[in-house]
Amino acid sequence: MNAFVCREARALETRVALDPPAVARWVKLGIRVGVEAGAGLASGHPDASYIAAGAEIAPDAGRALAEADWVLRVRPPEVADITRQKNGSVAAGFMDPFGGRARIAAMAAAGVTGICMELIPRTTLAQKMDALSSQANLAGYAAVLMAAGRLDSILPMMMTPAGTISPARVFVVGVGVAGLQAIATARRLGARVEAFDTRPVVEEQVRSLGAKFVKIDIGETGQTDQGYARELTPAQVALQQAGMAKVCASSDIVITTAKVFGREAPRLVTAAMLGGMRSGAVVVDLAAGSGGNVEGTRVDEEVVLENGVRILGWDAPECRVPRHASQVYAANLTALMEHFHTPGGCPDLDRDDEILTSCLLVHRGRIHPRFTTT
Ligand code: NAD
Repeated sequence: MNAFVCREARALETRVALDPPAVARWVKLGIRVGVEAGAGLASGHPDASYIAAGAEIAPDAGRALAEADWVLRVRPPEVADITRQKNGSVAAGFMDPFGGRARIAAMAAAGVTGICMELIPRTTLAQKMDALSSQANLAGYAAVLMAAGRLDSILPMMMTPAGTISPARVFVVGVGVAGLQAIATARRLGARVEAFDTRPVVEEQVRSLGAKFVKIDIGETGQTDQGYARELTPAQVALQQAGMAKVCASSDIVITTAKVFGREAPRLVTAAMLGGMRSGAVVVDLAAGSGGNVEGTRVDEEVVLENGVRILGWDAPECRVPRHASQVYAANLTALMEHFHTPGGCPDLDRDDEILTSCLLVHRGRIHPRFTTT
């Protein structure tokens, strides 16, 4: 079996699907690994480090793609690249399954199996393969550092001969994996942190990190069997916005991470709420790539409003820490490979398995039932 690690094509993408230590583990399984020239440069891994780990740098990337049994990426492949893969091969990576119907159809037509990292189940057995979590965790960390870097003041309280500086106030909206790490990071930097989520079960986790859970009564909410938030009604969103307005107005940093799996992110911070914030305050919108939690957010851009409030709408802030983001993403892919690998060479993707049922977007021309209707 041979695998090919592509250089990511998207601007601002700094991660790579396999880092050299992961390559060494794939090689140990008897897999030949080809790497596109320069694939790891942005994450601190020159071609020579891949060669030292046992990979080959592909002299002709197009040919390597066409000959590979497994093609590995972080970001979803272009349709044109899928059609260049051979029948029976595998494309693995984030696939944007809800936004990429053409990609799904192209895989089915080309006989390419799609392993969708967003659809790895959130179970204990699959925890090592959970790329949504590994990346969201770093996104939460990076969001706080980005906000702190753009803020006109400091985060910790300081008692100096020149007077006392109050700690910054940070408000985290959405307390999933990214939100929890954002709270922990902001606390470590000495900020006063408040947080809100529509899933009441997270209140205890927020408190255990030394933050305050903001109570907003929006009626019945709850979560799906997979632990994801349910979509709110427009009336509930309005109640939430009203409850959040006062907290936003007194915050120096607002970090929003609120997502509803498979749907547009809810619009939670309105222009009016931004208008009520102080000049110099920073809002980081981690849902920018899926519609945005913040009015006026622009993907991968910084927007400065007339009143001096900054909105940072980064799609994948974990790209700011590409070495570690690649390390943990590569570990997720490697865990998947090791779990399904067979002594004969290729991994067995045909066995009856809960992880495969969940993450095989397309296999042997069959599209995941969740995506067969529009
Ligand atoms: P996510 O990225 O889908 O959403 C982020 C957060 O936004 C969630 O906490 C969600 O409740 C919240 N949210 C949605 N709408 C909101 C609104 N209107 N206002 C405020 N908050 C809102 O979530 P995630 O980080 O991927 O985590 C999803 C779930 O999966 C969580 O329950 C998490 O604990 C669970 N999880 C389990 C495992 C495991 O058991 N192996 C691993 C990772 C995550």
